[in-house]
Amino acid sequence: MSQFWSPFVKDLVPYVPGEQPKMTRLVKLNTNENPYGPSPKAIAAMQAELNDDLRLYPDPNGDRLKQAVADYYGVKTSQVFVGNGSDEVLAHAFHGLFQHDKPLLFPDITYSFYPVYCGLYGIEPEQIPLDDEFQINVDDFISATTEAGGNSGIIFPNPNAPTGRLLPLAAIEKLLQHNTQTVVLVDEAYVDFGGESAIALVDRYPNLLVTQTLSKSRSLAGMRIGLAVGHEDLIEALERVKNSFNSYPLDRLAIAAGAAAFADRDYFNDTCQRVIDSRTQVVDGLEQLGFEVLPSAANFVFARHGQKDAAELAAALREQGIIVRHFRTPRIAQFLRITIGTDEQNKILLDALKTL
Ligand code: PMP
Repeated sequence: MSQFWSPFVKDLVPYVPGEQPKMTRLVKLNTNENPYGPSPKAIAAMQAELNDDLRLYPDPNGDRLKQAVADYYGVKTSQVFVGNGSDEVLAHAFHGLFQHDKPLLFPDITYSFYPVYCGLYGIEPEQIPLDDEFQINVDDFISATTEAGGNSGIIFPNPNAPTGRLLPLAAIEKLLQHNTQTVVLVDEAYVDFGGESAIALVDRYPNLLVTQTLSKSRSLAGMRIGLAVGHEDLIEALERVKNSFNSYPLDRLAIAAGAAAFADRDYFNDTCQRVIDSRTQVVDGLEQLGFEVLPSAANFVFARHGQKDAAELAAALREQGIIVRHFRTPRIAQFLRITIGTDEQNKILLDALKTL
């Protein structure tokens, strides 16, 4: 606290990202990064940008990346927004689309940045509990809206994080049919590992915004690239906020890498499939050790053990240089969130758990 702070800063409760330890030789399964590197074509595209043009500002619109996303999803470039990681895209959506005088609805167990953005932008949060199987029940969102006399919007990840559970598109469509007056934002950070994108619905529902990231399935977390797809009017709100905040959120390397990663479908399909296949093996291994594993459509699994305390397990793994994520949060304090790694990393994890 300092006299120099703007008053609202003292009440901010910032997001705490997963640890990025400085030690080497770690089995790092705590922040859902991709175990395989980015597309070699993305690396080559970045290398091609390493020239004198770096003295010039990048394209403020990131048109090359928007075009690659539009081509991939069969939408218009005016339906695409790009930003510095999907966290920034989400922040602009909270600022530009959710600041109304009603609560914003999201699941009680979900991405912990949502309440943080509510705090930053003065939005009232309303948490809708997941059911006993840790699933989103859209009927609960629909009835919460009716009871409260409306909402300022609805947001959830699909698959949800940290549970990994997937909501079918039919359920999302049901929600959209009932919730027509405010924005429904589907955060698809992990959708490529087993879900179907709601981008297929954006032309039918003008209040649907879908965000994605290149940090996970396209293995570019270090470049910070995110995007949103939706009706042009929603995209315009994001552009207006962005152009009042930072005109050049994506640098030249990021625009080039992102466009090349979207164009390289073979590498993308191949590496996603490898993660999905490894996930099956990790789930089998965990179940054999007595873990209950929630069905996952993501590049991580959420698992609890009937007899072993999750915090103790996480600490014991850490002593062996294996880092997984544990949340000291109601309802999920006995779960571990484990990122799917390479086959070698997954084996080290399962062997360590067997010993423990
Ligand atoms: N949404 C969800 C559900 C996430 O787990 C993450 C990763 N922490 C993000 C969005 C943000 O990803 P990024 O900013 O790397 O695009």
